[in-house]
Parts: sequence; structure tokens; C-alpha cells
Amino acid sequence: SLAARRPLRSSSRFFAVTQAVERSYIMIKPDGVQRGLVGEIITRFEQKGFSLKGLKLFQAPKELAEEHYTELQEKPFYPELVKYIVSGPVVGMVWEGPGVIASARKLIGATNPLNAEPGTIRGDFGIQSGRNVIHGSDSPENGEREIALWFKEGELVEWTRTIKPWIIE
Ligand code: ADP
Repeated sequence: SLAARRPLRSSSRFFAVTQAVERSYIMIKPDGVQRGLVGEIITRFEQKGFSLKGLKLFQAPKELAEEHYTELQEKPFYPELVKYIVSGPVVGMVWEGPGVIASARKLIGATNPLNAEPGTIRGDFGIQSGRNVIHGSDSPENGEREIALWFKEGELVEWTRTIKPWIIE
């Protein structure tokens, strides 16, 4: 068929160009900060090519931690999860780029570090779901919800990485 004879290059190019620019809320959890993984984790996102639009170290208020995980309210681990998130400082970040939501979740790895592939953040640095080092938004809608929850307007910075044309077509 015609489709079968279409060069691979043009179809992969099609997908690359139409990938939506998204924003993900990435949070290094208290264990990640205490264990000194902040630099390592930021490096992985920078080297992948995404753009950092917001970054801060803070102690999460209980109310915001509860709101952040509101979808998990009924889970048996919810109270422990909220305690974990407020147990020490966290690093909250906004990363932007084409397909960043799914891509960040690949960099992060499966929720349970036992199932996370080596090479992923949780696969390399975690053992249990209750200490899995990092959060990443699971959809563009949740990304925007979480960014609005954790960041004020003036805390995000509009800028363009000058290297961008070497990363994105
Ligand atoms: P993810 O963070 O991978 O999107 P979920 O949204 O399902 O995963 O869960 C949110 C967080 O709740 C997880 O990152 C983890 O810290 C915690 N969690 C999930 N499942 C468990 C579990 N079975 N036991 C303890 N903590 C859990």
C-alpha cells in the first residue's frame, strides 16, 4: 500500500513536530532531598532537553499536600503519604517541553521502585513506594492543576533555552 511505501523518516518527523508542548510539575520528595539527589535529578531533566520554568525548595504545608493527592484520599496509604510529603523540605519544579508529561514519567519510572527499570530515577535510587524519591504529573490537566497549586504566577519564569533548536526541530 501507499502507507507502507511512505518513507519512515517523514512519518517519524510528523510525530516529532505535532508533539504538544506541555508542562509537568516535578517534585523531589523529602527523601530525595535528604539523600542529596537534587543535583542528580535536575541533571537528568536538563540533559534530556526539557526547559526549567520554575524551581523552589520549601516545606510543604499539610493542606497543600492533601490537596495535591486528593485523588488518592480513599487509599489506605493516604495518611502516611501526606505525612511523608510534609516530613522535610521538597524541591518543586516546572519542566516544559514536547511530551514532557509522559517523558518525565519514563525518566522517573514505575510507582513501586521494585518495578522501576534500572536507569530510571526510582529504579536507580528507590526501594519502596513509600519512599520513591520523586513525583511527576500523570496528565497535562493534572500538571496544570499541580503547578497552580504549588506555584504563584510570579514564581514562573518565561525564557527560551538558546540550545533549543539543537534539541527540538
Ligand atoms: P505516581 O507517583 O507514580 O503517579 P500514584 O499517583 O499512584 O503514583 O501514587 C502517588 C504516591 O503515593 C506514590 O508516588 C507513592 O509515594 C505513594 N504510594 C502509591 N502507592 C503506594 C503504596 N502501595 N504504598 C505506599 N505508598 C504508595
